Amino acid sequence: MYPYKSIRLKTIFILLIAASFVYSLCACTPQADGQREVGGKENAAAAKNIILLIGDGMGFEQIEAGRIYNDKKPFAMDGMPYQGSVITNAYIKEIPTDSAAAATALATGNKVVHYSVAMRDGIPLKSITEYSMDAGKKTGIVATKDITDATPAAFSSHAPSRSNEEEIMTCQINSNIDLFMGQGKSKFDPYAGLLTSKGYTYVNTKAELEACDAAKIFATFDFISPQSEHSLSYLTRKAIDILSKENEKGFFLMVEGSKIDSACHANNLEEMIAELNAFDQAAAVALDFAVEDKNTLVIVVADHETGDLILPPDAGKQDLNNQLFHTGAHTSKKVPYFAYGPTADSFSQEIENTEIFVHMMSAFCFEITESRETGYLNLSPAA
Ligand SMILES: [Zn+2]
Repeated sequence: MYPYKSIRLKTIFILLIAASFVYSLCACTPQADGQREVGGKENAAAAKNIILLIGDGMGFEQIEAGRIYNDKKPFAMDGMPYQGSVITNAYIKEIPTDSAAAATALATGNKVVHYSVAMRDGIPLKSITEYSMDAGKKTGIVATKDITDATPAAFSSHAPSRSNEEEIMTCQINSNIDLFMGQGKSKFDPYAGLLTSKGYTYVNTKAELEACDAAKIFATFDFISPQSEHSLSYLTRKAIDILSKENEKGFFLMVEGSKIDSACHANNLEEMIAELNAFDQAAAVALDFAVEDKNTLVIVVADHETGDLILPPDAGKQDLNNQLFHTGAHTSKKVPYFAYGPTADSFSQEIENTEIFVHMMSAFCFEITESRETGYLNLSPAA
């Protein structure tokens, strides 16, 4: 599917796959009119923009529970023509991934140990955000939890652990990423002056954000919920407006529905569905833009499943309850992906999470310049 060569190093305990990818740029040129409506087939070789939406903790059953709760009304993501499943395991395969390792896989194409934020053995791993910036594209990070949380962090910083919050903040403040939106007001308020000196307009309310048409925005809020006036769909719309404005080179935008995961950890089905609906509304905003734009690849994916949600066969609305969760933790279940736009037709049915990165790089016609580790640490003793 993708032209690559791989080197395998096998020891008794370790299986590492370092893959370096070489792309032919000549076959990869953004097309002005490369696709059709949602539900159609697209074969364009490249995308100008990518919007990656990550539903933290969003498994197949979470989405099905949402459909049942919403009286079988399909989600916006259901209308995306290319769908399949994603294997979410981290470098240590035997225990379910955490969000840092999962986000690192999506952002950098590397399997890493838990808690690593776009870093392996002390070495930063180049993210799709950084490749995009190098190519002159605009970049944005939107999340409903703190901007320093694992998922947004992996797309905007490098740290040996997700708990190194100051290191993550320092990276983010110095990142030159065009746009940040999320929770974390109290953490970033002390750095408002520094952010201004870095060229950001620092805002904390919807009214301030609405009035702001600066090219670089750092928007932090105390709290974001489906009921907030600054809802995820509002933030996504505003982010797309800013990033797409007078922009010939295109943009990369990551949007996270962070709290689907929190609700699943708490085994709170109703709250999970409210967060899922809010996330899908953000996906709808992205799709509306992509249908109009015709040069935007939209990918909706999860980092992992949370809660081991299991629906009974032929479940109806009356069957939905919190007892359908079977753990308060993450699981290794496969999660769904949905894709629409240029290059979406070249996804395989089942993919490793690292392939999302590879696909985005290919869609942007970027050459992967660093070797990657996409294999698993095998902890089982040799026979
Ligand atoms: Zn979690």
